[in-house]
Amino acid sequence: MVKLSLIVPVLNEAEAIGPFADRVAGVFAPHPDIAVELVFVNDGSSDASLAAMLAVKKPGLRVRVIDLSRNFGKEAALTAGLQHAGGDVVVPIDVDLQHPPEVILEMLAKWREGYEVVLGRRTDRASEPWARGKLAALFYRLHNRIASPQIPENVGDFRLMDRRVVEALRQLPESQRFMKGLFAWVGFRTASVDYSCAPRVAGRSRFSGWKLWNFAIEGVTSFSSYPLRVWTYLGILVSLAAFVFAVIVIFQVLIYGIDVPGYASLFVAVNLLGGMQLIGIGIMGEYLGRNYFESKRRPVYLVRHIYEDP
Ligand code: UDP
Ligand code: MG
Repeated sequence: MVKLSLIVPVLNEAEAIGPFADRVAGVFAPHPDIAVELVFVNDGSSDASLAAMLAVKKPGLRVRVIDLSRNFGKEAALTAGLQHAGGDVVVPIDVDLQHPPEVILEMLAKWREGYEVVLGRRTDRASEPWARGKLAALFYRLHNRIASPQIPENVGDFRLMDRRVVEALRQLPESQRFMKGLFAWVGFRTASVDYSCAPRVAGRSRFSGWKLWNFAIEGVTSFSSYPLRVWTYLGILVSLAAFVFAVIVIFQVLIYGIDVPGYASLFVAVNLLGGMQLIGIGIMGEYLGRNYFESKRRPVYLVRHIYEDP
């Protein structure tokens, strides 16, 4: 008998919850040796999502609903789910059926072979806009060049984790939780299975381009101090260039006398250096801000109520 917990973060998905529960129940019905627990995390939905979650009654599915006090974001919702999942194996999964629940059976097979983490690897991003896929690929390339540990490309939150991995994740104290990074940080024996990402069953993506951009910045700054350090080297380079330029200018003045025109070069240099300094300060501010919020030690999420099947 295996106890499987599915962590399902939900933000305004009233239409998706029913089909999701039906599909999951269908997948696990032929497997009475797998006890499935659905851990819905209601991330501050303002529609009928909570009622829809509480209405899920399926033989063989235990339902637990963690109702958060407001919208804390998907990362916080996943953290809440991990905290409240009781299974031997835990799988975060989107409620929009973009992550086919059938794949969990393949993941379980790998887990039985002794892997503690089984990643779901997207084989096609056809269901999402072309630009989003390209930008995601660019993000992974940049992130993996400057941050460690590496995060595998085309791998999202859909993955199977052994109890031990979940315990490890629960021990991580940070309040800013870039889950992809934290998942990679804990390590463990890892395998992967391929799946193709289906179109959303209802509604639209909850992540706008701007939200994703900020998410990418959070990812890089949470796992790399390279953007901070690069300014030291840039500063050294610019100072060296300025020194060489100074020597040239002084010699020119000594040999040819004072040459007044120079407005263009001054203007360009002042603007360029001013811009670079602002970028440098901005990046420092980014980290300082992160540190500031981290130092408040506020909880990652607040629970209004936990509903549990008897
Ligand atoms: N979600 C959430 N809180 C948020 C945003 C999203 O719990 O602030 C949930 C959402 O309901 C869904 C999952 O996270 O179950 C993935 O969201 P979505 O499908 O919009 O993301 P995408 O698949 O476009 O990356
Ligand atoms: Mg989705």
